[in-house]
Amino acid sequence: MRASQLFFPTLREVPAEAEMISHKLLLRAGFIRRVGAGIYDYLPLGYKVLKKIEKIAREEMDAQGGQELLMPALLPAELYQETGRWGLDVLFRIKDRYDRDYLLGFTHEEVITDIVRRDVRSYRELPLNLYQIQTKERDEPRPRGGVVRGREFIMLDSYTFDRNWEDLDRAYERMYVAFSRTFARCGLDTLVVEADSGAIGGKDSQEYMVIADSGEDTVLLCAECGYAANAEKCEIGRIDVKKSEQELHALELVDTPDARTIEQVTSFLKKSPKKLVKTLIYQAEDEVVAVLVRGDRELNEAKLMRALGGKDIEMAEADVIEKLTGAEVGFAGPIGLNGARIIADHEVEGMSNFVVGGNKTDAHYINANIGRDFGIDEYADLRVASKGDACPKCNGILREHRGMEVGHIFKLGTIYSEGMGAKFLDDDGKEKSFIMGCYGMGISRMLAAIPEVNSDSDGMIWPISVAPFEVAVILLNSGDEAQCGAAIRLYEELQQAGVDVLLDERDERPGVKFKDADLIGCPIQVVAGRLAGEGKVELRTRASKDKEEVALDDATQRILELRRELYSRLEDKAQEVVFAKKG
Ligand code: ATP
Ligand code: MG
Repeated sequence: MRASQLFFPTLREVPAEAEMISHKLLLRAGFIRRVGAGIYDYLPLGYKVLKKIEKIAREEMDAQGGQELLMPALLPAELYQETGRWGLDVLFRIKDRYDRDYLLGFTHEEVITDIVRRDVRSYRELPLNLYQIQTKERDEPRPRGGVVRGREFIMLDSYTFDRNWEDLDRAYERMYVAFSRTFARCGLDTLVVEADSGAIGGKDSQEYMVIADSGEDTVLLCAECGYAANAEKCEIGRIDVKKSEQELHALELVDTPDARTIEQVTSFLKKSPKKLVKTLIYQAEDEVVAVLVRGDRELNEAKLMRALGGKDIEMAEADVIEKLTGAEVGFAGPIGLNGARIIADHEVEGMSNFVVGGNKTDAHYINANIGRDFGIDEYADLRVASKGDACPKCNGILREHRGMEVGHIFKLGTIYSEGMGAKFLDDDGKEKSFIMGCYGMGISRMLAAIPEVNSDSDGMIWPISVAPFEVAVILLNSGDEAQCGAAIRLYEELQQAGVDVLLDERDERPGVKFKDADLIGCPIQVVAGRLAGEGKVELRTRASKDKEEVALDDATQRILELRRELYSRLEDKAQEVVFAKKG
């Protein structure tokens, strides 16, 4: 490709709404453009990278027995009504001219399960791994970071169908390899973390996280044993609760006019939120539950659900709370509370002389104490884990990191097959539900994740495997015959050798060409400049900024060598990550 013909509209000023590094750089370098909230064009350079990411993903999926297909983006409502997902907030719902309901595909479990229930009959046709790379549509409440969280985005979604759980374990393992290798070959270091599999009977679930300060997810990592989990999922090790030895003060009901939230109460009483216990009232199917966690902590609803034996839970309605506490919402507390089971986070057990709601409008108790003033029916791990908590595996100390989720692998089991009646005939003559897995990779999010963690003040630093061009040949002065000859010779030799090469022969100042090559992040750059007259060119590597002079006659060989080296580093990494898991 010649730069003079390439459409890459670079920007000097980046739109103010771009906060993440990758968002700024992708806009600046002319890889993407905004069409609407969470909706982006992929311009030629961005699209080129995207296709390279897809190619790697396809190679790895195919190597693990995946078969690619393509499902529609426009989907009839009926399929999603069958599983009860028609009502989800993330759906884009539309009607056709006959007033029939449709949605734009946001994930395809229902569609794939429908394919398999129609056309797969026997265990002999299993295992099956079907995947697609397709555009997804989600009405995300907060699109963010350009293509990091779009409302339209490209995902690789794969689905496996097996006879039994052992086979699912094997299928999952294969997807683990495909995903791990894909990320490594794309130059992404990922941390695989335990993820929440929801309450509906799913089994293992893991997310691939790129650790980056700008990430939206909180990841907890134990420095001692390596246990890693999404904060949404992370359990907390059982630390022995030390009963506080503080002297117990007299319980007192104090006025707290209009102070309902933690901030309001703590600022009114001039106490730290750590000295407050909040009481959250939940409706758990047939019963009402009062849940106690320390004031500065967040309740993890998935944990609460598990502690209540998998019951459906939701925050109680205002009238239920008012009836239970005899006060307006915002003043619930455990003292004198009748008609609700009281369940508390383990940490509350070690607290003394704390603040709780007064079960009276505009009032709180101070110096409340368990045992003396009220009882707890049950303690459980209920709060969202955070830094400093104990590791559930080894009781080491958990550290917090920010992560950007680029992939999610999930043992679904029979949630969809049972719900949709997808069955096969096993060799024992019995009909059984397929055991399913689903696996999603954020292809377009990777376009951002890679430069998010690989850039410098000059621009993006693409790994060679997904760079918009592997090599940029920079012709400094197109009026100089020797320079022209050298640049064109290299360009042609490299093209012949199968290298994806850009020739920058534009009528621009050298500074502009250097800047652009760095901004778009070409990993290998070769400069035909003043030395061309002496039969020499300069080789540069984008990442290390190393420069070397080479004879024009040797340049192609040297570039090919360098290119091989860069690829083999990525391949080594891919083998390492898979080996580390098996080892
Ligand atoms: P998130 O928690 O980030 O919303 P999710 O749990 O909704 O992700 P999945 O439904 O498991 O994600 O989708 C699989 C992958 O698709 C994710 O790991 C992520 O990389 C990518 N992805 C999900 N939502 C978006 C989005 N709105 N824009 C871009 N990529 C996305
Ligand atoms: Mg989501």
